[in-house]
Amino acid sequence: MQHREIAFIGAGNMAHAIIAGLVSHGYPASKITVCSPTPVRRDKIAEQYGINSTNDNVAAVKQADVIVLAVKPQMMKEVCEALQQATDFSEKLVLTIAAGIPAHRYNTYFGQELRLIRIMPNTPSLVGKGVSGLFAQDTVSEQDKQFAQELMQSVGSTIWCVKEQEINNVIAITGSSPAYFFLFMEAMQQKAEQLGYDEKQARELVLNAIDGSVALAKSQGDIAFSTLREQVTSKGGTTAMALEQFYNGNLPQTVAQAMQSAIDRAEEME
Ligand code: NAD
Repeated sequence: MQHREIAFIGAGNMAHAIIAGLVSHGYPASKITVCSPTPVRRDKIAEQYGINSTNDNVAAVKQADVIVLAVKPQMMKEVCEALQQATDFSEKLVLTIAAGIPAHRYNTYFGQELRLIRIMPNTPSLVGKGVSGLFAQDTVSEQDKQFAQELMQSVGSTIWCVKEQEINNVIAITGSSPAYFFLFMEAMQQKAEQLGYDEKQARELVLNAIDGSVALAKSQGDIAFSTLREQVTSKGGTTAMALEQFYNGNLPQTVAQAMQSAIDRAEEME
């Protein structure tokens, strides 16, 4: 990976995760700066990873080759407009991880056509197992794309979106899905507790069952999930009885509708 000067605007969970990933993959800490008006998180991150920190977004952006916009979406307009006069952005690669803001709006915020890549990470990035969807504006070079891809690969895997609207599919499939799985885990834990296990035991049982299922699926190469399901289901057996309940409740259709609702909401928010 090329070692460019990177400025993170925002010192929240996501910025922290990406910085941690970069440094653990050998990216030079001296080439990373984190900016935030609130010193507590910013200085903690700076100290932990030996990177630079500042409360001066303009100064950080001026000296950076790559700017990672990592503030909340509702702060984005104000933060970008304050940077507009800071520097010549044609020399900078701008990456944004904010949800719900289309690429063209950043050109308006900055008053110029940017070399911009939208990135949609998910929370497992915090433990290096994220999935990020990336979409590049036409102004972005292959070299810039490669850089952004490698940056996000430091916290997991990546997938490119050819059209910007595909970012909303990524939101439904990987961005929001940790919550789908947590809901399932929550429901299983509740039933385990009703069966007499204490909270800790129930949590462990559910976590280990999911962890083992994912590990098993990964160990089987490209084998279909449906085949894996069939392999644990004997006709008339306990698993078959349990699955019948899921089918009676139209689980596959509910999942598809839930994912479509996430896409619809993402489109509405733009
Ligand atoms: P967060 O609230 O943890 O962090 C936001 C940071 O921005 C804070 O450090 C805050 O001090 C800083 N900030 C506020 N005003 C600022 C300013 N004027 N200049 C510089 N910094 C400023 O948020 P987060 O969870 O890290 O999310 C950051 C972005 O990532 C959001 O846009 C969110 O949509 C996106 N995102 C988050 C997740 C996630 O799971 N956390 C997933 C995908 C995308």
